[in-house]
Amino acid sequence: MENKLIFIFLDGVGLGRDVDSNPLTKASMPTMFNLIGQKLINTTNIVEQNILVKGVDACLGVEGVPQSATGQTALFTGFNAQAILGYHLTAYPNNELISVINNRSILKYAKEKHISSIFANSYTDKFFDFSKQNLSSYSVTTHCVLAAKIRFNTINDLINGKAVHWDITNSTLQGISDNRVSIISPFEAGQNLKNIANDYDLVLYECFLPDLIGHKRDMNSSISFLEMFDEFLRGVITNKPSNVNILISSDHGNIEDLSTGGHTKNLVPLICIGSSAHDFLNVNSIDKIFNAIFSNIFNV
Ligand SMILES: [Zn+2]
Repeated sequence: MENKLIFIFLDGVGLGRDVDSNPLTKASMPTMFNLIGQKLINTTNIVEQNILVKGVDACLGVEGVPQSATGQTALFTGFNAQAILGYHLTAYPNNELISVINNRSILKYAKEKHISSIFANSYTDKFFDFSKQNLSSYSVTTHCVLAAKIRFNTINDLINGKAVHWDITNSTLQGISDNRVSIISPFEAGQNLKNIANDYDLVLYECFLPDLIGHKRDMNSSISFLEMFDEFLRGVITNKPSNVNILISSDHGNIEDLSTGGHTKNLVPLICIGSSAHDFLNVNSIDKIFNAIFSNIFNV
């Protein structure tokens, strides 16, 4: 069977110290614990059958604290976006980064190599209201979809279990007038994500809740998120076909250190679950993940 990959991008998750201000030392995460046998902190380094966990650099040799636009561009293009700009850019990509993404990015590159791919996230009806569209507030992932000229998942896809919302459980949709989506359990959302890999070889999913929560320095919300994510992960790996690999990584640290409300320079996790896990052994920074995905998992 051909290799497949579900790439789960968590915004703002680093590997922190084993201290009280790190919610990863406090949250109950039985799924993760069963996989790695220890807490997910800065000393975690696991190379076992079908599982690899290590910390990778997100600073990429550029002064300052890593940020989202450059970090995500590095993750999803394999270029050192930080070095290209000479600094870390927050939030949304500027024109220079957009041209990097349009040149080569994960979904476009997959398409060129005849690897079927999808961005699993659902977009609300408002996104498709072209009169209200604002290119300058599109995320790196949205630009990746545009560059690949593939379809965006809709709320109908979400209702049909063919998409996953960025908040995992659809909680943020509940306040929208004429909302037609129910809350689902994180486990069910995880199963939905896993099932999308029945139809595609490469599935990309983004959750930026940990970054939002990390900026608020709220320990209880951080623990709740991590425990929800653990249930989501249980859903992703339960009855996972053996040819499906799961990759989890981030663009910069944040939630792992609530002593500060900003991003951190900590290494970010690179977690790979599946038969190709060891193919990521030599990846030491976030801009090297792209190449490992295509050369090792998809052999292109
Ligand atoms: Zn970010």
